[in-house]
Amino acid sequence: MRKKIIAGNWKMNMTPTEARDLLELLKPSLDTKDVDILFCVPAIDLLIAKELLAGTGIEVGAQNMYFEEKGAYTGEISAEMLVDAGVSYVILGHSERRGYFKEDDEMINKKVCKAFESGIIPILCCGESMEQREEGITLEFIRDQIVKDLAGVTKDQVARMIIAYEPIWAIGTGKNATSDQAEEVCAAIRKEIARLYDDDTAQSVRIQYGGSVKSNNAPELFTKANIDGALVGGASLRSEFIQIVNSAKENS
Ligand code: PEP
Repeated sequence: MRKKIIAGNWKMNMTPTEARDLLELLKPSLDTKDVDILFCVPAIDLLIAKELLAGTGIEVGAQNMYFEEKGAYTGEISAEMLVDAGVSYVILGHSERRGYFKEDDEMINKKVCKAFESGIIPILCCGESMEQREEGITLEFIRDQIVKDLAGVTKDQVARMIIAYEPIWAIGTGKNATSDQAEEVCAAIRKEIARLYDDDTAQSVRIQYGGSVKSNNAPELFTKANIDGALVGGASLRSEFIQIVNSAKENS
């Protein structure tokens, strides 16, 4: 049985002062008994989040990371820096990074490999645009992303990672995929992992849905067999996040 994992993606929100206030507000109502909880915060908030969440079992993740070891890469953050800060997860391949910052599958694959090499668990995002969905190439496109982004990654590594299915048209739009649409793609991702690796690996990897997850749509999403939690953007900035976590617990 896979434990569900709810990850908040704060994106470029929350100054250090705001981060402290929000975590102090949420923390008393969150516990990790039947669900894993993770906050992926801006780099400047990582240490504050680590400090405030110490002893709670709630993990802290980064939203990006560069694949080079160190050196002249102004503005970037390395895996070693994240590890030293106590960060255990990193979001990679988010569609906002693929779109605005032109990250391609080759770069994302290098980042995924570097994260594993450093002991950080990647949350690998994949997802189609509305045009691709309307063209009927959603599954084909996502399988291709998975193959490219996981090149050279071992089955033991895949078994421990998180894959987030995030249709681009659902992110930050208030228009979520239906639970059937999300389940169809998450099941296809699991099938692809079984084809690339084996059934045990496919049964171990946790697959989240992300895209306008709110307290009103989370309960139904979490009843689906292949949806192991959610990557939550906007609603992770509010107390609504607690209700989403509680919905996951109810379906654990
Ligand atoms: C995200 O940030 O990955 C996301 C899914 O955002 P939202 O929940 O706001 O759509």
